[in-house]
Amino acid sequence: MEILLPEKVRHIISVLNGNGYEAFAVGGCIRDSLLGRKPKDWDITTDALPEQIKKCFDKTVDTGLKHGTVTVVLGHEGFEVTTYRIDGAYSDGRHPDEVSFTANLKEDLARRDFTINAMAYNDETGLVDEYGGEKDLKAGIIRCVGDPMQRFEEDGLRILRAVRFCAQLGFEPEKNTLKTAGLLASRLTAVSAERIRAEIEKTILSPYPEKFIIAYEAGITKYFISETDSTGDIVRAVCGRLKEMRRLKEAGDLTVSYVPKENEAGLAWGLLFSELSEKGAKECFKRLKFDNLTARTAFDIISAGKLEPPKQDDVSVREYASLVKVEKMPYVMAAECVKEEYAGNVGKEYWKAKDFYKRYLELRSLGQCMQIKELAVDGNDLIAAGIPRGKQMGEVMDRLLKAVLKDPEFNDKKKLLELALTF
Ligand code: ATP
Ligand code: MG
Repeated sequence: MEILLPEKVRHIISVLNGNGYEAFAVGGCIRDSLLGRKPKDWDITTDALPEQIKKCFDKTVDTGLKHGTVTVVLGHEGFEVTTYRIDGAYSDGRHPDEVSFTANLKEDLARRDFTINAMAYNDETGLVDEYGGEKDLKAGIIRCVGDPMQRFEEDGLRILRAVRFCAQLGFEPEKNTLKTAGLLASRLTAVSAERIRAEIEKTILSPYPEKFIIAYEAGITKYFISETDSTGDIVRAVCGRLKEMRRLKEAGDLTVSYVPKENEAGLAWGLLFSELSEKGAKECFKRLKFDNLTARTAFDIISAGKLEPPKQDDVSVREYASLVKVEKMPYVMAAECVKEEYAGNVGKEYWKAKDFYKRYLELRSLGQCMQIKELAVDGNDLIAAGIPRGKQMGEVMDRLLKAVLKDPEFNDKKKLLELALTF
C-alpha cells in the first residue's frame, strides 16, 4: 500500500534520515490516508531525541519537550515531530507519570490507543503495521492495541475516544474492547470535564452521531451525563434525532444547513439533551464546563422544545418568533424540524414545523416586524408623545409589539402613536 506523503513531510523525514535517524509519518494521518481521506495534520515519529531534532531544522518550537514533541516549522506550516516513546505507569488514570524514549518504533506504536491509529509509514520502509491496523481498518473495527483492560485503566479517555472514532468513521468497537470499556467506564471519573466534553462533541458532530448509543449501551454515559440515562428509549430517540440532523445537513436542507456555524455544536447538544429538564441541562452544562455560546444555544433549544406547539397561521408564526426571539429562530427551528423529521408526521397531531419555518422565512422576507426594534416608533418618538422613560415605556413597547404581531398593517408610526396614547 502506497501513501502519498506531502512534500514537506517527505522533506522532514529525509532531513532526519540524512542525519542518521529513522523517521515515519504516524497515527491519524496514516489511518486517514489508507481510508482515502485527507488527513487533518501529519505527525512524525523518530528515534532522534528532541535536542537532536532541533539541531536538524532551522525553525522549531518546543511544543512538549518533556513528552518528546518538537514542532518543525516549514513556511507557514508546523509539523509535530515526536521521539519514539514508551509511556510509564499511569497512576492518575489519565497521564503517564513519566515517559521514556526508546530507539524502537514498535514500542512507540504499542503505546498508541487503537490498532488503526498505530501504523507508521515512510517511502523507504512502506507501511509498518505491527498490530493489524490495516485489517481492522478494512473491517471497520476499533480495537485496542494490546490488552483493553490495561489500556483503559491507563487512560480512561480512551473509552470515549473509542466511541468517537466509531462515530467519525462509521466503525464498530471490537467485542472485547467494547465489553472492557463498559467494565472500566468508572475510569472516566479521572478524566477532565473539558476532555470528556470535547470527545462527546466530536461524537455528536460526526458523520455517524447515532453511534453515541454505543456509549449508552455499554453503560458508559452514566459516568458523565447521568441525565441522559433515564431510559434506553429516550437515548435511542435522541440518537435518532442526531442522525436525522446529520442527514438533513448533508442534504443541504434549509432548516439545518442554515444554522450558523457557531451554533452547530449547541444544536447537537440541544438535541442530545432534548428530553432533559431545563434544570438538569443547566447542571450538565456546568459540570462539563460548557462555553457560554454552546450552553446558551442548547438551552434555548431545550426550553423552546417545552413550549406548547403553536398553530400554523401567520399571527401564531409572528407571536412564536417574538417569544423565541428572532435571532434564535434558525437553530430553534432546525431542532424542531429535526425532531419532526425523526418522529414522522403521519397521522400525528403535531405542528408542521417545517411549513411553519418556511412561512416564517417568507414573512421575514416581506419585512414583517417581530421584535421591538423593528417597530415603526422608537423610544424618542414615544418620549415626544409624552410617555415617560423607564418601566412604563417598556410596557408600552411590549403592547405595541403585541398589536403589530396581530396585524402587521399596524406597524405605522401614526397608528402606533395613536394607540400608545390610549394605553
Ligand atoms: P484526529 O483526526 O482527531 O486528530 P488522531 O488519531 O490524529 O485523530 P490525535 O488525538 O491527534 O488523534 O492523536 C494522534 C495519535 O496519537 C493517535 O493517532 C494515536 O496514535 C495517539 N494517541 C492520541 N491520544 C491517545 C491516547 N489517549 N492514548 C493513546 N494514544 C493516543
Ligand atoms: Mg491528529
